[in-house]
Amino acid sequence: MQLVFASNNKNKINEIQQLLPATIQLLSLEDIGCHEEIPETADTIEGNAILKANYVTQKYGFDCFADDTGLEVEALHGAPGVYSARYAGEQKDSNDNMDKLLTDLSGALNRNAQFKTVITLNKNGKQQLFTGIAKGKITEEKSGDKGFGYDPIFKPEGYQETFAQLSSEIKNKISHRGKATQQLIAFLINEE
Ligand code: IMP
Repeated sequence: MQLVFASNNKNKINEIQQLLPATIQLLSLEDIGCHEEIPETADTIEGNAILKANYVTQKYGFDCFADDTGLEVEALHGAPGVYSARYAGEQKDSNDNMDKLLTDLSGALNRNAQFKTVITLNKNGKQQLFTGIAKGKITEEKSGDKGFGYDPIFKPEGYQETFAQLSSEIKNKISHRGKATQQLIAFLINEE
């Protein structure tokens, strides 16, 4: 089965490819000749995942899935949320984003946070949404050099390490994206 994953982010493509069964052939945006930037102008994580999946299906005619992720911090009333990538500015720099978040939370006792991933699947003319959540805490400082984004300052529930200190195998099992992808895979297998 061929499915487009509406992403250009190599980290995300690699993570999801590791989780997919061999019967599912993942096509990237490059594989289908989509080189333009897909608009992400919705004000919710769900809305952006739907925008991206619909863009590919409507413009290129492929079945596809798209994901969108945000980090929701309790003490900041859910921020940065849908704005996680550009929290510290349009340069979308991970270190700047982490520095801003650590500053915003300086002295905060409540450091609870969660990553939320929504995957939108367009297949055979129908649309399905899958949501994965990873709960944890924002650390006081950065630790670890694996992963990407906010990984060095996010300690998942039940672990003493940050996402950036855990192996990709463990992160894939317990992460927001891993959980949403597991639901996507279960759905696709069930439909075969
Ligand atoms: P996107 O929707 O996957 O592009 O993610 C939006 C923002 O959340 C980006 O700044 C990413 O760096 C960050 N992000 C997404 N997934 C993860 C993750 O697994 N770990 C850390 N940061 C992430």
